[in-house]
Amino acid sequence: MSTDTIFGKILRGEIPCNKVYEDDVCLAFHDVAPVAPVHVLMIPKEPVQSLGHIAAGHATMLGHLLHKAGELGQQLCPDGFRVVANTGEDGGQTVNHLHLHILGGRHMGWPPG
Ligand code: AMP
Repeated sequence: MSTDTIFGKILRGEIPCNKVYEDDVCLAFHDVAPVAPVHVLMIPKEPVQSLGHIAAGHATMLGHLLHKAGELGQQLCPDGFRVVANTGEDGGQTVNHLHLHILGGRHMGWPPG
C-alpha cells in the first residue's frame, strides 16, 4: 500500500497529532473532527490499508491494537464506548491506513447514523 496517507505523515512526524498513546506497534491520537466527546483513532505503525487487507501475519498486531483500544476505551469512557473500523468505500473509509475509531463520552445509539 502507499504510505503517503495523512496517517503515514503523522507516523513520520511530518504533521502533528494530539497523541493519546504510543508504543512500538501502534499510535493513538484524537480525531481532528470528533463526532463524539471522546473520539480517538488507533493506528498500527505497520502500513496496512484496511481490515480488508489483513493477512495471517497481521494477527498479533491486530490483537495488540484491539487490546490497547479496549484499555484506552475503558480508561477514557468508563461508562462504555464503541470501536469502529470503517473499511473500503462503502464502509466510509477515507484514509487508506487501517485505523480503529474509539468513540464514547455519550450514549452512542443504534443503528449509527
Ligand atoms: P475514516 O473516515 O474511517 O477513514 O476516518 C478517518 C478519520 O481521520 C476521520 O474521522 C477524520 O476526521 C480523521 N482525520 C483526518 N485527518 C486527521 C488528522 N490530521 N488528525 C487527526 N484525525 C484526522
